[in-house]
Parts: sequence; C-alpha cells; structure tokens
Amino acid sequence: MNEKLAAEVAGKIAKRMERANKPVPVGVSNRHIHLRQDHWDALFGKGTQPRKLKDLKQLGQYAAYDTVSLVGPKGRLENVRVVGPHRSGTQIEISMTDSMNLGIKPPIRDSGKLQGSTGVKLIGPKGEVDLKEGVIVAKRHIHIAPSEAKDFGVSEGEHVRVRAGVGGERELVFERVLIRVSDQFRLEFHVDTDEANAAAIKSGDEVYLV
Ligand SMILES: [Zn+2]
Repeated sequence: MNEKLAAEVAGKIAKRMERANKPVPVGVSNRHIHLRQDHWDALFGKGTQPRKLKDLKQLGQYAAYDTVSLVGPKGRLENVRVVGPHRSGTQIEISMTDSMNLGIKPPIRDSGKLQGSTGVKLIGPKGEVDLKEGVIVAKRHIHIAPSEAKDFGVSEGEHVRVRAGVGGERELVFERVLIRVSDQFRLEFHVDTDEANAAAIKSGDEVYLV
C-alpha cells in the first residue's frame, strides 16, 4: 500500500471514531402539511391564522392544532397536521405506507423540490383544494448548524450513513442521509414513521454517523 492511501484510510478511520462519540437526536416526522397562504385561506377561511400547538425543534417552525384531510384515489387520511409558518409552496410530507393507503405514488424528495411531484385533494373545515402537485415522501436528512457541521466534518448537500437502534433487535444503518446546514437548524436526524419503525427508534433516541 502506498503512503498516500494509508494516510487517507487512517484519516477516514479517525473521523469515524470521532463521530462515534457524537450522538445525533432523532426526530420522527409524522405526516404533515406546509401550506401556501391562498391554500390556507381556501381551507380554513380568509383572515384566520394557524393556532400554535407546540414549537418544533427547528427554529421558527411549529405544529398547529389545525389539520386537513387528504383524499386520494384509494382512500382518505384524516388529521394531517399543519406545520407553520406558511411557505411559498404547499408541501405535504407522507410516508410510503400513507401513499399506499391513498393510492398515490409520490416521489422521494428533498423538502422544497416539488416540481413534478404528486397531487392530492385537500379538505379543510371551510373548503377544498384540488392540488396538482406538492405531495412528497421526504428524503431522510440531518438538520445541523454550521458550527456543528464543522465538528462533525460534514457539509451541505453531502450524504452520510447513520447507525440507528444500536444494540436493539432492529439496529440498522441508514444510507444516503442528506446533510442540511443552516444557522436556523438544530441538530436532528429526521425520518418518517416507516423509517423509524424499521429501526424501532423514536423521537429523542440517539443515532450515530458512521
Ligand atoms: Zn427536517
């Protein structure tokens, strides 16, 4: 083995050992919807605002008391929670199990990338919206602030591997976990309910980069 390769391998192993001491808290995302203002108005009534239920860990984001129903060709999902504040595009994040129950096939996407995504009918207390696109299965990701990203040796847009459920019957390594860096972010590994169940993990558990 040449020296350059040996140094590279040693560097990778050192990085891995260091990361093994830094737990990342899990945040399991249940199905939810981010609404555009005019869609909110159509579903809940103009002049009304979402009622905050609780702040989420990511700065400025909150879960609302308000919910909508989704209707697809095969079924209906009730009580899909609104997450505020409103966004420039309506985005619905559901699991693959939810997709099957609705009878739709949304793409697995990063948040915000909605072009060509799947439509669904939304029903609120004051009206309905026939959405042409906006449904995705969110790509698993880690939110991280810039200073912490430095500590972990990761950067925006990078994919990492995450070991979850360590020591449990369903311990597994998630591949292709997207790193998302922003000073608005707090360290959190975001998965949906299908992914969490696959590893038997819940919000607040700890996972590790490998
Ligand atoms: Zn997230």
